[in-house]
Amino acid sequence: MNKVYLKPGKTKALANQHPWVFSGAIQRVEGKPDNGEVVEICTEKGEFLAVGAYSPFSQIRLRVWSFKKEKINADFIRRRIQNAIQRRKTQYENSSDTAFRLVHGESDLLPGLIVDQYDTVLVVQFLSSGAVYFREAILTILKEETGIHNIYERSDVEVRSLEGLPKFSGVVSGDVPDEIIIREDRYQFIVEAAGGQKTGFYLDQRDNRKLIGDYCKEKSVLNFFSFTGGFSVYASGNGASKVTSVDSSQPAMDLAKRNYELNGYDVDRSEWVVGDAFQVLRNFREAGRTFDVVILDPPKFASTAAQVKRAARGYKDINLLGFKLLNPGGVLVTFSCSGGITDALFQKIVADAALDAGVQAVIERKLTQGRDHPVNLNFPEGSYLKGFVCRVI
Ligand code: SAH
Repeated sequence: MNKVYLKPGKTKALANQHPWVFSGAIQRVEGKPDNGEVVEICTEKGEFLAVGAYSPFSQIRLRVWSFKKEKINADFIRRRIQNAIQRRKTQYENSSDTAFRLVHGESDLLPGLIVDQYDTVLVVQFLSSGAVYFREAILTILKEETGIHNIYERSDVEVRSLEGLPKFSGVVSGDVPDEIIIREDRYQFIVEAAGGQKTGFYLDQRDNRKLIGDYCKEKSVLNFFSFTGGFSVYASGNGASKVTSVDSSQPAMDLAKRNYELNGYDVDRSEWVVGDAFQVLRNFREAGRTFDVVILDPPKFASTAAQVKRAARGYKDINLLGFKLLNPGGVLVTFSCSGGITDALFQKIVADAALDAGVQAVIERKLTQGRDHPVNLNFPEGSYLKGFVCRVI
C-alpha cells in the first residue's frame, strides 16, 4: 500500500479522529496512488496513523476509512453499510415511514457516500473519489443488504468537480419510476428522484415538519421556500386555517400542489405563489398582509467560508421581513442549512433581525436535522441544519 506522510505538527486532527486531512498537512506521497486509492497515512517518521482514500485533486487530500490498521475492501465497506442500515432500523423500528437516509457520509464512517431510500428505490450519491473507488462494490452491497435493486445515481453535484470527478446522473440498476410515492408520518409525498433537488426530498426536515405541524392548528401559515410542499402539507394536516406556499421553482410548486391533493386537501383553498422570496416578502409587507406562522427554510446561502458574510446578510433580510409579517404572538420558524453559519451566528442574525423589525421574541425550540442525518462527534461539519421556533412576545 502506498504511504502518505504528514508534516510534523499536522497530525492533531487525526489524533482527534477527524476524518479529513487537508493538502497543506502532507509532507510527501510515496508512489503514485490513483484518484481514490487506499493509502496508509503516517507521521513523517512513518508511524501509522490511519488508512484513507487519496484524493489528489481535492483540498481535502485524504479521507479516513479507518484509524485501525485494517484492509479496506468490499468486506470492510459491507460492515460499515450494514451498521449504518442497522442504526436506521433501530431508530425507526416503530415507524411506518418509507423514506430514510440510510448512509450519511462521514458521520456513518463512509466518507463521501450518501444513500437515501425512497420506498423501493435507492438514490445514491458518490461525492468523493474514495467512495467512487468502491462504487461497484457499494452498489452490489446496497442491493444485497437492502434487497432493493432499483438504484438511481445522483452524482450530479458541484463538489464532484473538486474531486476531479465528472458529474453523472442516471439509473444504475433496476427500474426507477419518474415518481415515487413515499409515506412520512400520516402523509404521502411524490418524490422525483431524477429531476428533483437534492436526492428528491428533504428528509432532514422530517422531525421538524412534524413538530411545526403542532403550531399550525387554526393558524394562517406562510411557508417560504416550500419546495414540494412538505411543511404546507403538515400545516393543513394539523388544521391550519389557511396555508400560503412560496417558491421560485414552478416544477416544485406544481409538485407541491399534487402532494396537497394526494393527501386529500383542496388546492383551491390554499395560496400558491411562484416568485423570488425576497420580492414576495416585500410585496406582502407592502400589501399589509400578516400571518400567525411564518416558515423560512431557504436553500444554502453559504457553501464556503468566504460566502458567510454575504449569506448572513441574506438571512438577516428574510428574517427581518419574516418578523414583520407576523401577527402579535406569531411564530417565526427559521432555518439555515449553511454549514458555515454556526448555531451561535445564526442566533445572532435572527436576534438582529428581530431588533430591526422592532419586535421582542423568544426561542421556544431549537431545531436540527433528523436522526437519520446523524452528526459524528468527531465531525462537527456534519451538523449543518439549524433552526429556531421564535415567538413574538
Ligand atoms: N422546506 C422544503 C425544502 C426547501 S429547499 C421541504 O421541507 O421540503 C429550498 C427551496 O427554496 C427550493 O425549493 C428552491 O426552489 C427554493 N428557492 C431557492 N431560491 C429561492 C428564492 N430566491 N425565492 C424563493 N424560493 C427559492
